Amino acid sequence: MKFYSTNNKNHKVSLKQAIFQSLPEDKGLYMPEFIPTCDGAFIGSLADLSFQEIAYEISRQLLQGEIEDVALKNMVDEAVNFPAPVVTLDKNAYVLELFHGPSMAFKDFGARFMSRIMAHFLQRGKKRLNILVATSGDTGGAVAMGFYDVPDIRVIILYPSGKVSPVQEQQLTTLGKNITALEVNGTFDDCQRLVKQAFLDEELNERLNLSSANSINIARLIPQTFYYFNAVAQIRSKGDKRPVVFSVPSGNFGNLTAGLISQRMGLPVHHFVAATNMNDEVPQYLQSGKFIPYPSRQTLSNAMDVGNPSNFSRMLDLFDKDADKMAAAISGYSFDDEETLSGIRHVFHQDKYVMCPHTSVAYLGLKEYLKEYPDMDLAGVFLSTAHPCKFPDVFDEEIKKQMAYPSQMEELKNKKKNAFLMNNDFEELKSFLLK
Ligand SMILES: *Cc1c(COP(=O)(O)O)cnc(C)c1O
Repeated sequence: MKFYSTNNKNHKVSLKQAIFQSLPEDKGLYMPEFIPTCDGAFIGSLADLSFQEIAYEISRQLLQGEIEDVALKNMVDEAVNFPAPVVTLDKNAYVLELFHGPSMAFKDFGARFMSRIMAHFLQRGKKRLNILVATSGDTGGAVAMGFYDVPDIRVIILYPSGKVSPVQEQQLTTLGKNITALEVNGTFDDCQRLVKQAFLDEELNERLNLSSANSINIARLIPQTFYYFNAVAQIRSKGDKRPVVFSVPSGNFGNLTAGLISQRMGLPVHHFVAATNMNDEVPQYLQSGKFIPYPSRQTLSNAMDVGNPSNFSRMLDLFDKDADKMAAAISGYSFDDEETLSGIRHVFHQDKYVMCPHTSVAYLGLKEYLKEYPDMDLAGVFLSTAHPCKFPDVFDEEIKKQMAYPSQMEELKNKKKNAFLMNNDFEELKSFLLK
């Protein structure tokens, strides 16, 4: 399997290059040169397969021999080592819980798979790889935990001092070993600027093997297809044969793009819902056919505060830049913070289920779609992208009291923070990296 840039389909590279380079020089995004379709027998037997078996088969299809079977099987087994259960909420709505990994957010799937695929392609004993990432919260935790103890890779995470939540900071700063946290006296934008500058610095690139782990990397998208297949498998094994609709809480639209790729691979999905907070440029596009990016707006579901989603170019690519085609496959809805909070309260009182603000947006999106098509008997699935305990400030006391705290949370409690304080100064970063 080769990968092309969405800006130039003739520019094709190997899997290895697509992964280490992350972003093509022409600033497009890498896409597989074709989307393989699974055979009917595999789709028909989904309900009999385990999550790992499904993940292995999908990755084999998508990578088409780029990684030999035994190595790929090991990689998948290590990356997908926690479940993604489908929980019944009511007669039309299931929750697909994607937060059972180490950082309690769905980004664990992408980060764990990417770290293993990178380690696979690194030549043992050669220069070790340095991964540089800037984080505003969730990405950093998933990357830190996903790359923890992976051989030949060092991870340096820059985060804005005082601007990530306590749980997120703990996830970034307590691991040690090959994970280093730099606490920057500045904003997230400053962190991003420093990372970008590092990638452009000749001396750094000469002396260090630098790479990034951001959400545009194709290696993060691949494992996100696994749980769409696994969700349909679970719904079918509950005896539910109705057409399936997925509602995806979206920011950079990587998660939704992975869903669309799954559908192209032959997964029976009736429809997708793109659910956003007030950063609604994609729902707007689905209405008007015009894409107008703008500076991001701050909301309660802050991991989705994206004004110019990077994966939108992959979506355009999948639909040949045809707005009508895209709108036939995806419905877009956006919700403000008030609506997000009432979604949380409603589901808590009605179903005794606590969901994080991102998940609430997906829930509201699903309900809105089902309301539009009352005569269709549909199996709705909304994706839960993070455990609510990561966002304690959002909830009323009553809900907070009922919230379960998973073991990942307990384990963080007594760990000691270890971060290097740094000014918003590139020379300081550079000398740190070269030390
Ligand atoms: C990153 C993130 C999202 C958005 O996912 P995209 O793939 O960027 O659309 C949603 N919810 C949570 C909790 C996240 O961390």
